Amino acid sequence: MPLKLFLEACTLTTRHPFAIARGSSTGYRRCWVRLVDDDGVEGWGEADPSNYYGENYDTVVATLKKLEPYLPEDPFDLESAETRFAQVVPKNGAARAALSVALHDLVGKRLGQPLWRLWGLDPQKTPVSSFTIGIDTPDKMREKVHEAAAYPILKIKLGTDRDEELLRTIRDATDKPIRVDANAGWTAAKALQMLPLLKEFGVELLEQPLPPADLEGLARVRAAAGHLPVVVDESCLVARDIPRLAEAADGINIKLAKCGSLREALRMIATARALGMLVMVGCMIESSLGITPAAHFTPLVDAADLDGAALTVDDPFVGATIEGGRIRLPTGPGLGVRRR
Ligand SMILES: [Mg+2]
Repeated sequence: MPLKLFLEACTLTTRHPFAIARGSSTGYRRCWVRLVDDDGVEGWGEADPSNYYGENYDTVVATLKKLEPYLPEDPFDLESAETRFAQVVPKNGAARAALSVALHDLVGKRLGQPLWRLWGLDPQKTPVSSFTIGIDTPDKMREKVHEAAAYPILKIKLGTDRDEELLRTIRDATDKPIRVDANAGWTAAKALQMLPLLKEFGVELLEQPLPPADLEGLARVRAAAGHLPVVVDESCLVARDIPRLAEAADGINIKLAKCGSLREALRMIATARALGMLVMVGCMIESSLGITPAAHFTPLVDAADLDGAALTVDDPFVGATIEGGRIRLPTGPGLGVRRR
């Protein structure tokens, strides 16, 4: 009997309106995927679509319905299943990722092992996760820094016309390490102008300063950045994007909603490592059902920004947690996620 697919809608609410260079929102509509086998074992996944990549709740549901006839007879047939999904819908990474994750969850549950263990990873080797401070008024940003007391690294969203003020506000409020994400909001000239300031404020990582098309500008920014690592996010969706970025950036930021599958995420790590690049893993606004599958491969990465569930006030799941900043992996089978 083929696997049965069930979909469920939910809305996640962030504690504050979450603003980045492209806009702001509070409510995030998500879709949960549940795959059920003959024995009643359930594999779960969550689609966390982003408008920037052409996805929303409706495209996710339409894509999942389109992919339903292509579900594998055998959930262990992961490589073929994911390849087929990507052939049928080449984009729609968030929708495909939810199916990939649900299949992996099912496989792990059938074997009685957590994903990190199936991959042979050491759960002690998880990195610290940064916590993101969205764009806001100086008072609100100071308040957010205070709320982030438990997190040892802060990530600041820039790409506005008041970046210097935002950065200064955070630096005055804390002496923690700061990472900056411009979300493609700068030109090369603006980025070059910002570099001395980033150095003055002790910024330890710069993410996606320029629009993805400006590879030549990115190479100039990276050359001028010296020891400050430049990491690409919006420029890098899947493994085949990485080789052309290797001369222009120091590292990549992997997100399941971009790459569309757990196996592709592992291929991205291998590709980046072969090119001597840093590897970071990030997320959208997601519940713990969305965050936890990415957390399972963090023993393989250098840096993590898996705060998506921590930014919400209504996370319906318990899975990977962040304790004292460190990612802690669950020990239950599959994802090890349970509903509250
Ligand atoms: Mg980013």
